[in-house]
Amino acid sequence: MNTPDSNALVSLSQFAHGASGADLVMVLEADPDGRVTWSTGFPNASFSGFNLARSGVLAHAWTGQPVEANAFRLPTAIVQALGGPAARLLFIPAPSDDAPSSGMLLLWKHDVGAEQSPQTLSLLAPSVAQLLSARRGAVHDIVVRNQFIDLVESVPAGIVLIDGDGLGTVINQRAAELLGQKPGKHRAADLVAPMRALRQRCDNHAELEQAYAAQVGNLNFATTLHWVMGERTFEVDTHPVRGDGEQGRIWLFTDITADLLMAAELRRLASSDPLTGVPNRRHFEERSAQIIAAREATGRSVAVLMLDVDHFKKINDTHGHPIGDEVLKVVARRCREALRDRDLFARFGGEEFIALLAAPTADEVPATAERLRNAISGAPVNVGGLRIDVTVSVGGAMGEALPGCDATLLEQLVARADEALYEAKADGRNRVRMSS
Ligand code: GH3
Ligand code: MG
Ligand code: MG
Repeated sequence: MNTPDSNALVSLSQFAHGASGADLVMVLEADPDGRVTWSTGFPNASFSGFNLARSGVLAHAWTGQPVEANAFRLPTAIVQALGGPAARLLFIPAPSDDAPSSGMLLLWKHDVGAEQSPQTLSLLAPSVAQLLSARRGAVHDIVVRNQFIDLVESVPAGIVLIDGDGLGTVINQRAAELLGQKPGKHRAADLVAPMRALRQRCDNHAELEQAYAAQVGNLNFATTLHWVMGERTFEVDTHPVRGDGEQGRIWLFTDITADLLMAAELRRLASSDPLTGVPNRRHFEERSAQIIAAREATGRSVAVLMLDVDHFKKINDTHGHPIGDEVLKVVARRCREALRDRDLFARFGGEEFIALLAAPTADEVPATAERLRNAISGAPVNVGGLRIDVTVSVGGAMGEALPGCDATLLEQLVARADEALYEAKADGRNRVRMSS
């Protein structure tokens, strides 16, 4: 990795090259075992991974004077970098904490006179050592920073990380896409407008503005809100983060659209009847309790209609259970179509259905019951090439949602409608009876 310190080491090698007349100057970073982990030099000699221990260079007691090269077994890498065998060499040890065998190696191809042996070059040793450890530190920082970037990018969320001084900000790729910015570092001030624009694109922006405005100036503000953007919903978490003793802030954007769709589908499945697709009894009871509670405030009326297919057992017995199933689907569909959108309709069980009419007038209840009865008896049900005459009996009951009575009202209405249904059956079926 090229750092400012490695460039300085090349310059230093160049200086030593000029001052000594050496053919090659190398700065070698070597670990305690003599393994060279990094090198540079002048003329350019960057390679690593060879071992200096066996050369004898590290064991020699250096006095700052070049010596005969014959006594040393230089690694092939060095001989190749020099372009032939060395006649003389000088090693200037420059140990650093993590790389105690480091130093500067000067190589001459030909003999050099004593006057050309610049003892003063040894004075470079502290600088070489210092630059080597600075370089290691810088490389470490880059590695840590790269690991940080990898980490930030591997999180499946948009991340906006604001420094403690409130000036710098880092955003990852996902956040960059959301904000229409480049990933990486930004001035915090430059992200204020894109963050605001993103919030304003949300369907629920008024609610978001209000929630965030209430927290202006609160450094400990931590909250999770849903940012709804049309089809997509993001769970946006923000909380303070501590770094260098200063308080920064992180914003995490997680796309929860798929989770919400899944949850809605599960809710739908749990609340609907698998055969007919209309709501099931459980959903009917939950939902009608809510409807009645809402009516209670205005004291308006509610009505329940219970509907049962006449002689349905005979349909099963005559045509088989699968045809019976198809008949139930048609009955459910015709009933749903005969009701108003705001009426609640459900399969109560077996071949029994139920409707809750919200705020009907006294005339509307029997009229709706008649409409349901006609919807079924009005035309035969066509299934599996058969035309089956189907009729239903309907019992109805109406009541007032008075304050405090909502818990029992539904039970009472269902019981009364059931009695009325029994009367309709007893009176010959295919008819409507209202509870008095
Ligand atoms: P009534 O006019 O008195 O209501 O006569 P009925 O034959 O309709 O009444 P009964 O309660 O004796 O029979 C209802 C039948 O509905 C019995 C049951 O097997 C059938 N049934 C209940 N659920 C289903 C279903 O999901 N599919 C089919 N095919 N039949 C069902
Ligand atoms: Mg029946
Ligand atoms: Mg029945």
